[in-house]
Amino acid sequence: MLKPEDTYLHKGQRKELVKKLQEKGIKNQAVLDAINTLPRHFFFDSALLSHAYQDKAFPIGEGQTISQPYTVAFQTELLDIRPGEKVLEIGTGSGYQAGILYLLGAKVHTIEYNSNLYERTKKFLPKIGIKVKHYCGDGSQGLPEQAPFDKILVTAGAPVVPTSLLKQLDVGGRLVIPVGDRKTQKMLRLTKQTEKKILKETFDNFSFVPLLGQEGWK
Ligand code: SAM
Repeated sequence: MLKPEDTYLHKGQRKELVKKLQEKGIKNQAVLDAINTLPRHFFFDSALLSHAYQDKAFPIGEGQTISQPYTVAFQTELLDIRPGEKVLEIGTGSGYQAGILYLLGAKVHTIEYNSNLYERTKKFLPKIGIKVKHYCGDGSQGLPEQAPFDKILVTAGAPVVPTSLLKQLDVGGRLVIPVGDRKTQKMLRLTKQTEKKILKETFDNFSFVPLLGQEGWK
């Protein structure tokens, strides 16, 4: 597949999207810049291309979705990524969120449960210059062989906070994860202040596809 085109029209649409995200309360300039830089339409099926800059989630095949830009911005802002940090993303999907983390200077490890999405995204991201490490498997249990991580981001809705993920977080590290029922989840941010002390903060409601697996939905 050839590298898709990024026209002035797309660039203008991205600027408008960034403006909308600012109006909705996103403040972190590095996050807004990354969204302004990464062409979201590269991650879309040709039939849906004209929708790429709407602030909505869209199907990416395999019954899965690319998250709404506001959700990507909100989760990324909560993570507060510093360049060089080691980040685990659970739920690679289209690779868009992994691309945003990469543009923020993170060393990204991303794991996807669905083998077709894993194969597709692993082939696609290098073609648009995004270098992250891809894994296929059950991310509800984290990635113990690569732990500890400075930040962990879960992009699917979990029934509970997986204890494996807290274990694999470095002291000072943060886990951002939507937790709730299959329809609606509260966004949580858990900061590992010491080996034994976790600060838990609760934010707005979101609606994610379910996190499957051992420490997800059965
Ligand atoms: N971050 C993605 C993006 O930028 O396109 C969107 C993620 S989509 C909302 C959720 C993804 O999580 C799906 O691709 C789904 O297959 C994946 N998923 C669900 N359970 C998982 C698990 N236990 N481990 C890894 N990935 C999982």
